[in-house]
Amino acid sequence: MSFLEQGDSLLWSSPAVSTSSERICGKPGTKKPSRTKQEAAEQREPQGPGEGARTRPAAESTGLEATFPKATPLAQAVPLAGAGTPLTGWDLLPADCAASAVGSSTDELELPMEFPAPEAWDCELKDLEEDRPALSPSPQAPLLSLSWDDELRKPGAQVYMHFMQEHSCYDAMATSSKLVVFDTTLEIKKAFFALVANGVRAAPLWDSRKQSFVGMLTITDFILVLHRYYRSPLVQIYEIEQHTIETWREIYLQGCFKPLVSISPNDSLFEAVYSLIKNRIHRLPVLDPVSGTVLYILTHKRLLKFLHIFGALLPRPSFLYRTIQDLGIGTFRNLAVVLETAPVLTALDVFVDRRVSALPVVNESGQVVGLYSRFDVIHLAAQQTYNQLDMTVGEALRQRTLCLEGVLSCQPHETLGEVIDRIAREQVHRLVLVDETQNLLGVVSLSDILQALVLSPAGIDALSA
Ligand code: ADP
Ligand code: ADP
Ligand code: AMP
Repeated sequence: MSFLEQGDSLLWSSPAVSTSSERICGKPGTKKPSRTKQEAAEQREPQGPGEGARTRPAAESTGLEATFPKATPLAQAVPLAGAGTPLTGWDLLPADCAASAVGSSTDELELPMEFPAPEAWDCELKDLEEDRPALSPSPQAPLLSLSWDDELRKPGAQVYMHFMQEHSCYDAMATSSKLVVFDTTLEIKKAFFALVANGVRAAPLWDSRKQSFVGMLTITDFILVLHRYYRSPLVQIYEIEQHTIETWREIYLQGCFKPLVSISPNDSLFEAVYSLIKNRIHRLPVLDPVSGTVLYILTHKRLLKFLHIFGALLPRPSFLYRTIQDLGIGTFRNLAVVLETAPVLTALDVFVDRRVSALPVVNESGQVVGLYSRFDVIHLAAQQTYNQLDMTVGEALRQRTLCLEGVLSCQPHETLGEVIDRIAREQVHRLVLVDETQNLLGVVSLSDILQALVLSPAGIDALSA
């Protein structure tokens, strides 16, 4: 019996697969897990800072089944019939079935695609929503002119580093989340459309021959495909119609396959931050060490949100009261930007050349008028306009069906605490640093903040490694 027959039909609308740990945990005979910090977060009842260590699953003493209640049923799940199907708890359709599943539900993908509701994109963070004390600065806080290095030598500077070392990836995972997996034999066009249709930003890639996960498909890959094959608005990008994920990877990577970067649920959140930043990736799958199943996909946003919520209960290091200007957290030189009048193709060139996650959009006088992120490029798939890369960035931003109005920014005189509060509240990957007249000064990204809070106190600089 497949999971489809177990009452999950509402999730069945694409070649993709959904998994809900809630559903899996609810299977008869499954041991009810003890409450974890992450479950408390979902129920908005955070535990005290000391409780994490007690409730944190202890792999050493109890073994994996007891340790990772979400992992256990997956590991025990009855393998699905048929070659090319991973031995996991979710359904994965090989490419043929995937294609027909798409066809049956979305009219062979030829119909205009509707962008998922905003909630779909935000589901990964919903369960960590806070009604908790924010990291807001105290008016009495001393504003000493110490450098960041001096700040790191102060007592208490390592509080977030220790917190992340003491908590495992399991703690930051949602108890229920949607997971979309692609077989590498799926056509790339269908894969990108399926990302849109399912409202997810990335999917692990399953190789049926190797019977393992071999990589991730992200919006950056969509950008790379467009960048490589786009010629002009008049020429159809037939490669996007015909290539499978496998073919694309062979052509693009030319045999130098970057192995899947993953993490175990019992690895620490410190290791997760380090891995994301060092490998310059934004999606870190958490793999069940027993079954090899993907349990969850960790992101910078999820980690910052976790730290923001539970860090509010920790003693506040003095660097939170220092200004961004004093601390120099972010990138302030050699910024990658795009003119609002430039074609989208130019933005894609910059994404590929500079490997940045977003471009401040500026007008002729250098004022910031918008932000074009890699995420926004998926709108070209959603609206089937990926053949119109001569459209201006300004026009592309106006065409987004789902967008934040204006630019979320910060100013040099704002404190690190204020910046963290805003970035966590707005659930974006970065703030643009501007002066009072909206002139561009820098970018403060989640990578910069996590590097500063978690890795710098350990003497590690993964950002410039
Ligand atoms: P995005 O910001 O668009 O989600 P990423 O920065 O995560 O993309 O991905 C950059 C590149 O690294 C892409 O080609 C993607 O396929 C690859 N990638 C992303 N995550 C992983 C991972 N966990 N393991 C291996 N490769 C990955
Ligand atoms: P991801 O979760 O994939 O990292 P991003 O945070 O980069 O996504 O982008 C999600 C959406 O938020 C995009 O539409 C992007 O343009 C918008 N966005 C991100 N950062 C900002 C910002 N600083 N100002 C305005 N919009 C932003
Ligand atoms: P990110 O890819 O956003 O996680 O950030 C990785 C690094 O790139 C961080 O140090 C950012 O400050 C920096 N960065 C992000 N966007 C830009 C940009 N447009 N120009 C220059 N650096 C950037």
